[in-house]
Amino acid sequence: MQISREEQVEQLKNPAKIWDMIVIGGGATGLGIAVDAASRGFKTLLLEQSDFAKGTSSRSTKLVHGGVRYLAQGNIGLVVEALRERGRLLQNAPHLVRNEIFIIPNYSWWSSIFYSVGLSVYDLLAGKRSFGRSRLISKKETIYRIPNIQQKNLKSGVLYHDGQFDDARLAVTLAVTAIEQGATVLNYFKVKGLTKEGNNIKGVLAQDMETGVSYSLKSKSVINATGVFVDEVLVMDAPESGPMVRPSQGIHLVFRKSFLGSRDALMIPQTKDGRVLFAIPWHNRTLVGTTDTPLDSHQMEPKALEEEIQFILDTAAIYLTRTPTRKDVLSVFAGLRPLAAPQGENQKTKEISRSHKLIVSPTGLITITGGKWTTYRQMAEETVNRAIEVAGLPHRTNRTKTLSLHGSTDSADWSDPLFVYGSDALTLKVLAKANPPWKQILDQRLPYIGAEVIWAVRNEMARTIEDVLARRTRALFLDARAAMDMAPAVARLMAEELKKDAVWEKEQLVSFLNVAKYYLVDGDK
Ligand SMILES: Cc1cc2nc3c(=O)[nH]c(=O)nc-3n(C[C@H](O)[C@H](O)[C@H](O)COP(=O)(O)OP(=O)(O)OC[C@H]3O[C@@H](n4cnc5c(N)ncnc54)[C@H](O)[C@@H]3O)c2cc1C
Repeated sequence: MQISREEQVEQLKNPAKIWDMIVIGGGATGLGIAVDAASRGFKTLLLEQSDFAKGTSSRSTKLVHGGVRYLAQGNIGLVVEALRERGRLLQNAPHLVRNEIFIIPNYSWWSSIFYSVGLSVYDLLAGKRSFGRSRLISKKETIYRIPNIQQKNLKSGVLYHDGQFDDARLAVTLAVTAIEQGATVLNYFKVKGLTKEGNNIKGVLAQDMETGVSYSLKSKSVINATGVFVDEVLVMDAPESGPMVRPSQGIHLVFRKSFLGSRDALMIPQTKDGRVLFAIPWHNRTLVGTTDTPLDSHQMEPKALEEEIQFILDTAAIYLTRTPTRKDVLSVFAGLRPLAAPQGENQKTKEISRSHKLIVSPTGLITITGGKWTTYRQMAEETVNRAIEVAGLPHRTNRTKTLSLHGSTDSADWSDPLFVYGSDALTLKVLAKANPPWKQILDQRLPYIGAEVIWAVRNEMARTIEDVLARRTRALFLDARAAMDMAPAVARLMAEELKKDAVWEKEQLVSFLNVAKYYLVDGDK
């Protein structure tokens, strides 16, 4: 399905139109809400100030999981909910979620017992949606499965199953699914204010960030799903609002696949300072993270702190025989958790609630924040149910528990670089075949071809080089230097497709390189 941004904007041009729901924010939470609301037949509009998943939703650890750590904290309700959603996501988007084996290395007999019992409970909680049984494995099998694991004092391992996914691809897939379900979905559209009648919210003031044109849009309900930005929208509603969110930064480093040297993922349940660290095979690379650093402020493009980079390198060096160094880092990226802020006390962030918070302001503004990618669908269902109540909309049953997402196919071939497109992979190949230059690989270090750039513009609302290199393909996250080298070719293909001139190309390049340098550990910042 081709998607024209102009056609989406056209839907906003009738000033008398009243939407059932306007959703602010195009990350996991907002996009999930748009799919839910549109699939129930509500007139739905989603506005994202930048690109879909530009915020936290492209910067996760890429796990669709119940959360082994939450189990250790005794947060059973959260684990059960997440395991249920993990199963649903695998069923509804099997081209984007896969069943992955994780290995916990045990360096004491006590941890062998503790983690094998704990993971058995994890399996039990998953019930019929289990991804496979966990088991205690010998030292020999642990080494066989993770050849680069530190062997000194190694006693055994625990093998368990969880889900792994591509976060930004899932976000784009949700945007396309929402449009297919009848929603109007726009990126580069910022909400700048809320409109009221008396004390009740009646709509939003929004600006098209491409043209500068402003719109006053009416709606029966308005949903604030802006992640770490929720407080800014709450202030638009009530200037005296206190903070609802406390950002906590998490970073990841990306290395060549050979650093893990395994098809399985490694899980370190307790680092020196009590955190969890993962090393995960992802798109032919090894992804290692994360950290948990409380911050007092947030920004659109968060930057990894030097101590966070060092912490990951130091911890990886303890558990891997092939010690990664700074010069091995292909990319570094930082994301901000929109953790629900504790009221009053000064807690450490890993103890602050990871579960979501849904509140309705006296004006009727609905705000949803916190939670996890894994539970986006459940969060969306609860939010739409609440919006129906608040706005007095007709009750309509949720459909997303079994709704297949765009491109869904059971026969995704994981060895095909185009597997993330699911059933679209075939059409994309036809596109590449029809135009041989588009079949060319853009850079030898990554598998991406020219046709994917064209596809992103025509079918996935990519507007900038960064949209293509960071979130339609994952080049920037997999190899920042390669992404920078690919940028001129991407600019040329996009300019042709979007009918832009050389000035646009140049501006795009400057703007992309400005962002991309933060993905290099030793870049010229
Ligand atoms: C380091 C890290 C690792 C994680 N790992 C995992 C994991 O492995 N598995 C998992 O399940 N979860 C994980 N999470 C959690 C998960 O990523 C988040 O819960 C989820 O992405 C939050 O999505 P969101 O839509 O609420 O926020 P965001 O993705 O930040 O989206 C909010 C959007 O609102 C937009 N916006 C803000 N203001 C406006 C405005 N005025 N007008 C229009 N748009 C606006 C922003 O541009 C942004 O795109 C992780 C989080 C972090 C930080």
